Amino acid sequence: MDSISLQAMAKINLGLDVLRRREDGYHEVKMVMQTVGICDRLEFGRLRSDEIRIRTDKAQLPCDGGNLIHKAVRLVRENYRISDGVAVRLEKNIPIAAGMAGGSTDAAAAIHAMDRLFDLGLSLEEKQKIGVKIGADVPYCLMGGTALCEGIGEILTPLPAVPQAFLVVAKPEVDVSTKYVYENLHADRLKEHPDIDGMVGSIRSGDLGKIAERLGNVLETVTVKRHPVIADIKAFLKMQGALNALMSGSGPTVFGIFKEKEAAREAYGAMLKRGYTRQVYLTEFAGRADDGCGA
Ligand code: ATP
Repeated sequence: MDSISLQAMAKINLGLDVLRRREDGYHEVKMVMQTVGICDRLEFGRLRSDEIRIRTDKAQLPCDGGNLIHKAVRLVRENYRISDGVAVRLEKNIPIAAGMAGGSTDAAAAIHAMDRLFDLGLSLEEKQKIGVKIGADVPYCLMGGTALCEGIGEILTPLPAVPQAFLVVAKPEVDVSTKYVYENLHADRLKEHPDIDGMVGSIRSGDLGKIAERLGNVLETVTVKRHPVIADIKAFLKMQGALNALMSGSGPTVFGIFKEKEAAREAYGAMLKRGYTRQVYLTEFAGRADDGCGA
């Protein structure tokens, strides 16, 4: 195979709890991840030279070793002694530095693409072993769908697909550093924790109302304090009829869950009109495979 095109899907967190800070500085987490229909599009082609050449439509993204795609391609090449190079074109649609795993999902797509381009026949576990060297979210992104992630994010339990629902996703125009958020979270002093076990139970019973009720993200305690616009957007989405709304990952992206497509569409229009941000998306929960790009 000489070339391949793939979609790399974004994720949101339906639940995110931090249990403790380990001695090595990593945080032990318990989170529920969910794929959504916002996706990047990537094209990979084999090169005769040994170059890794990345082109993207977003000028602010690095195209060298700083891009997670570069890191993924390099790791697979080293592991499997591949001498050919790879050319990559990235159409970036997932908001950047948003808490939607945009870089990690591109890295996961690069591992899938390398496997197919060079006919490596890798299992999911083999791909995940490479992925975790790039970032804690990459093993999940390789699998997608609905999953419980524990440890530093690398211990995965696939969960049944959630019921259909429609989402309004908004990324406020503020920059959030994941490092800052974790450094300012004092896991041992937290008074409240999201009910992750309850969320898993609600997903297993397929109850959208209970899933919405149990949304919770402990990182909001840090990010919302710094960027109150996140709380404003959450309140606005609920006022527009969302079952509930939450910040994803370390933020600043917020999503609202709607049962009906028409209500979500109206809230999407209202959100654009309200002018908190221009980065607003109308999408839905997505499943495990390449099932469409609803953005
Ligand atoms: P997470 O939800 O996993 O914390 P995020 O959505 O907060 O991720 P990303 O969009 O992955 O953050 O980007 C974080 C930084 O990583 C960016 O500032 C960017 O410079 C760098 N980066 C490297 N490669 C990529 C890529 N392929 N796509 C997006 N960002 C990338």
